[in-house]
Amino acid sequence: MTKSSLTHFIPQRILRYAPTDLCPLDGDIPVLQLLNTCRNRDTANTKNYINTYEDFLTWCYEIRLIDQDTHNLLEIEGNCYVQEAAGIVNQVILAREMLYDLIYCLMSNEPVHHRVIEEFNTINIEANKHLRFEMTAYGLRKVWHNVDEEMAFPLWLIIKYAGDFLMSADVQFIKKCHCGSFYLDKTKNRNRRYCNPLTCGSVRRSTKYYQRCFSVTG
Ligand SMILES: [Zn+2]
Repeated sequence: MTKSSLTHFIPQRILRYAPTDLCPLDGDIPVLQLLNTCRNRDTANTKNYINTYEDFLTWCYEIRLIDQDTHNLLEIEGNCYVQEAAGIVNQVILAREMLYDLIYCLMSNEPVHHRVIEEFNTINIEANKHLRFEMTAYGLRKVWHNVDEEMAFPLWLIIKYAGDFLMSADVQFIKKCHCGSFYLDKTKNRNRRYCNPLTCGSVRRSTKYYQRCFSVTG
């Protein structure tokens, strides 16, 4: 990889609770980035990074899913409608785990449970209610309609991306890093080994280095 191709692995961060415990942004595309907001899934050390609507909005802004104006507007909505915002967080977590089940099955060539497909359809139908055909400068396009103050809008964006992505040939390029994070390996020789070569990769390399030193001296 060239140095410039690595720059997107160093995103600008927004500090939240603890500067050392930031929500992971790795994953390359929104659907995989969403899966990675849960660490150590199905273990006693499971860590969920999306606990509040504010967490969700900050993460959406950090991965550039939404712009600053949308973030600020939805932040106000979230503060005004606290219960509704908590409901959106529940939907996000359910959608994330549904997408995890689906992607896990697709990667391991296992049959997908009909419950998972039903859940995907339910949220996709909800998102599609806000899409309509319009003539644009680029021709006929599906565009979002009346979503400015919809608190679930960022989730609908992810669901639309997920649907388009999971029907594409790029599904075959999904990989799982040794740390458990998912990423999309679109390198020419399909030899990318880490979700983030600058952090995960260097940790792995230094661990291996110390293990080698230990085995020589010990
Ligand atoms: Zn990793």
